[in-house]
Amino acid sequence: MRQGFLKERRWIVAIKKILIYAEVFDGVLLPGYRELLSKAKEIFQGRGAVFAAAYAGPRNAVIAEELRQSGIHELYVMNSPLLDLYHPEYHLTALEMIVREADPDVLLITATRAGEEMSAALGVRLKTGVTAHCADLVLSGDGELTQMVPAFGGKVVGEIFTPTTRPRIASVKSGTFMAADLDAEECRETEVSAAPLDALNPSVEIVGFEKRATKKMPITAADVVICGGYGVATRENFRILEEVAEQLSGAIGGTRPALDAGWIEDESGMIGTSGRTVRPKVYIGFGVSGAAHHVCGIKDAGTIISVNQDPDAEIFEVSDYKAIGDARAVAQALRAHLARSGDETAPRINP
Ligand SMILES: Cc1cc2nc3c(=O)[nH]c(=O)nc-3n(C[C@H](O)[C@H](O)[C@H](O)COP(=O)(O)OP(=O)(O)OC[C@H]3O[C@@H](n4cnc5c(N)ncnc54)[C@H](O)[C@@H]3O)c2cc1C
Repeated sequence: MRQGFLKERRWIVAIKKILIYAEVFDGVLLPGYRELLSKAKEIFQGRGAVFAAAYAGPRNAVIAEELRQSGIHELYVMNSPLLDLYHPEYHLTALEMIVREADPDVLLITATRAGEEMSAALGVRLKTGVTAHCADLVLSGDGELTQMVPAFGGKVVGEIFTPTTRPRIASVKSGTFMAADLDAEECRETEVSAAPLDALNPSVEIVGFEKRATKKMPITAADVVICGGYGVATRENFRILEEVAEQLSGAIGGTRPALDAGWIEDESGMIGTSGRTVRPKVYIGFGVSGAAHHVCGIKDAGTIISVNQDPDAEIFEVSDYKAIGDARAVAQALRAHLARSGDETAPRINP
């Protein structure tokens, strides 16, 4: 069946231009831009491809220069004070206008909250395919972009193609790829008219953004990440994991079911394709099954330790060390050991 499809598929054009959306928040270019550009170059460099960036925001000489020096050949900007704060209608229209002007074969967007909704809505406006939360991007033998996404509840990793429409739109969580040091290229700049924004009559007014205050260490910055899965079973048990994380000067995270159960505050603590990608020196998962959606977010962790009562749990296949047993019992034992060991002999994670 699949073979037949592959034989019959007709690619519309070879991939010659890759446009990357450069999202700026609070005056700072978000890291996902460089990560996506690095990945795009890794895939398409040497194939005659043009790399381009799209910026939609108020005029900002610093950001414009940063983008020009980032290793792209073309920069498309739409400047307007209406784009000062992220606005789903203004920014979507701005990106649509830029894409129509740039006419890329591939559009890559970081799957931030803004990026997620813009990529989906843009796919509708441009009548093209969108692959959300890609775990990887690779080139197929015939030069097509293969978008890898866990599917069927994470049991398989699906290969998604967008064979008949363009641009192929893919969103990827920040942290999925590593940013490389890229040399600057000769860069041509195009200013796209912001006039279509004035014609809009947006249904919402954005008055500002407030950062949520939290004292917790972000999971993306910690050397040790303790992760709780559904096998942890209760909020009370989850608290033991929080204490262990604190004892190890680490951060606490969770799986999707842990988020749904309310054990972690929000998606910033969720690990996986729809959450965060983490690269700690040590990851310890308690009661985590090892679904692909989650494992994609820990694949670059240094040492993976897993606790699961099921000896055949999939998480053990990607683990360096496994403990077969009850999550609560093991967490309690670890907490007691760390408390007893004190500062002198407690296990240390060397920076
Ligand atoms: C589009 C999409 C995106 C998704 N994105 C993400 C994502 O970003 N992150 C994510 O995590 N998930 C994501 N998911 C969900 C994902 O597919 C899995 O369902 C989820 O990761 C499973 O979480 P879990 O391992 O905590 O729970 P379960 O799959 O329920 O596993 C619980 C595990 O705990 C073990 N267990 C049970 N009791 C105990 C005990 N007493 N002691 C020790 N072990 C015990 C069990 O053996 C089992 O292995 C996504 C799903 C979809 C469809």
